[in-house]
Amino acid sequence: MLDTASIAFPGDPDYAAATSVFNLKSPAHPAAALTATCVADVRAAISYASVRGQGVRVHTTGHSAGAATSMTGDLLIRPILSGGVEIDPDRRLARIPAGTPWSAVVQAAAPHGLAAPHGTSGTVGAIGYLLHGGVSLYGRKLGLAANHIRSVELITADGHVRCVSAAEDPELFWAIRGGGGGFGVVTAVEIDLFPVPDLVAGAAFWSWEHAEAVVGAWYDWTLHAPDEVSTSLRVMNLPDLPEIPPMLKGGPVVCVAGVALAAAAARDLLDPLRKIGEPVLDTWQECGPEAVPDVHMDPDEPGTFIGDHMLLAEPGREGIAELLRMTGAGSGSPLIAVELRQLGGRLAEAAPAGGALNRLDARLAYMGAGVPELSGTPAEIIEHCDKVRAALGPWDTGQTAPGFVKGLDRPRGHLSEADVRAVERVRARVDPDGLFRGDAMPETVIVP
Ligand SMILES: Cc1cc2nc3c(=O)[nH]c(=O)nc-3n(C[C@H](O)[C@H](O)[C@H](O)COP(=O)(O)OP(=O)(O)OC[C@H]3O[C@@H](n4cnc5c(N)ncnc54)[C@H](O)[C@@H]3O)c2cc1C
Repeated sequence: MLDTASIAFPGDPDYAAATSVFNLKSPAHPAAALTATCVADVRAAISYASVRGQGVRVHTTGHSAGAATSMTGDLLIRPILSGGVEIDPDRRLARIPAGTPWSAVVQAAAPHGLAAPHGTSGTVGAIGYLLHGGVSLYGRKLGLAANHIRSVELITADGHVRCVSAAEDPELFWAIRGGGGGFGVVTAVEIDLFPVPDLVAGAAFWSWEHAEAVVGAWYDWTLHAPDEVSTSLRVMNLPDLPEIPPMLKGGPVVCVAGVALAAAAARDLLDPLRKIGEPVLDTWQECGPEAVPDVHMDPDEPGTFIGDHMLLAEPGREGIAELLRMTGAGSGSPLIAVELRQLGGRLAEAAPAGGALNRLDARLAYMGAGVPELSGTPAEIIEHCDKVRAALGPWDTGQTAPGFVKGLDRPRGHLSEADVRAVERVRARVDPDGLFRGDAMPETVIVP
C-alpha cells in the first residue's frame, strides 16, 4: 500500500527506476514518479496527484517515449502489478497484469500450445501495445491485436476500479482500444490466445547483390499472399557491434522475416527467394510460439532511436525501387533499418465488435530508424528520414498505426473525425477534469 513517502522525486533512485525509458531519445522528466505494484498503489497515486492539481501520466517500458508529450509538472505512474500472467487453456484466454512484457505472456501460453498476438519484440509492454492497436507477427491472420482484447481493468480519475468489456461499459471498451490513451491506468487486460499447430518463423538475409531481385520477388508475392503468412522486408545497414552476426556487417543486407501459420505457405514464399541467391543467414524453421518473439532480432536494450513511420498505399515496383535507392548501397543512408511491414489480410478488415482503431487501411507499414553515434548524427538521421518520406510521398496514405509513431514532429492519424469526437466524449465522461489529458494523443490528425 502506497504512502506518500513512496512517491519519488528527481535525484531518488526510485525516480530513476520509475522514469526509465527504452527510447533514450526522449527521457521522461515528470515532477514525481512511482512504480505501483498493486491496485491500491495506483488509486493512492491518483488521489495524491488529484488533490495537488497535478496531471497523471502512465508508462511501463517507455518504448513509446519518443511520442510522449512533456511530463513537466505531472506525476508519472509506472504500473508493474504483481501476480503474473494467468492462462486459461480451456477458454484460450490470458489475463495480463500491467507492466508485463510480451515475452512473459508468450512463455506462459506456449506450454499450452497457444500463441499471443504480440509484435516483433518481446520487450514491448503488452498493455501499451494493445491500447495502440497492435500489429502482430500473426496480424494478417488475426487482425489487429486490440480486436482480441476481451476485457480491460482500469482505474479512472475518480479512483474507481472498472472492468470494461463488450457487456460492461461498451462505450469505454470501444474508446480505450485504439482511441489514443488518457482514460486511466490500466491494471490488467484479458486477451484471446490461439493455437498454432503448423508454425514456421524466421528471418532470411541476402547480401546486396541479390537485393533488387529478392525485394522484387517478395513484393510480387505480397500482392497475392495468403493470410496465413505475415512478413516484413527490411533493408539493414548494421553497425560493427559484437552482438551482430559477422555475415550481416560490412554493407547493407535485405531481410525477409516473419511468421507462417502453414508450412506449405512458408515454402511458397521462401523457395523462390532462396533460388535467387543463397541467404547469408537463414533462420526460418518450424518452431513453437516461444521462439517467435526473437525472429525479428529487434534490439532488446534501451538505446537512442530516431525514426519515422508512414502507412503506404500500393507502392508498386516503382515505390519499392525508390526505397532501395534511398536506403541501400551507395545511398549514404544513416538509417540502420528500414522496414516495410506487410498489412492486408484481416488487418484490413473491421472487426464487428472492434475498438476505435480496428483495422489499417493500407498495404504496407513503413518504418525507418537510425541510432546516433552508431549511424550518424541526429540531424543527419532526421534529414535522411525526411528524404525517404519525400521519396515515398506519392504512396503515403497520411494515416499511421499509432504504436509505430516515433515522435511528436510527424503527422499522425488513425481516427475519423466522428471517431475523434466520440472518443473525446468518452474521455470527458470518465475524466471530466482532464487528469490524464497528457496521455491522450492531442496530435491526432483527423482522417477525412
Ligand atoms: C523495438 C520495438 C518493436 C516494436 N514492435 C511493434 C510491433 O511489432 N507491432 C506494433 O504494433 N508495435 C510495435 N512497437 C510499438 C509498440 O507497440 C508501442 O511503442 C507501444 O506503445 C509500447 O507499449 P509500452 O507499454 O511498452 O510502452 P510505453 O512507452 O511504456 O507506453 C506507451 C503508452 O501506452 C500507454 N500505456 C502503457 N501502459 C499503460 C497502462 N498500464 N495504463 C494506461 N496506459 C498505458 C500510455 O499512454 C503510454 O504513453 C514496437 C516498438 C519498439 C520500440
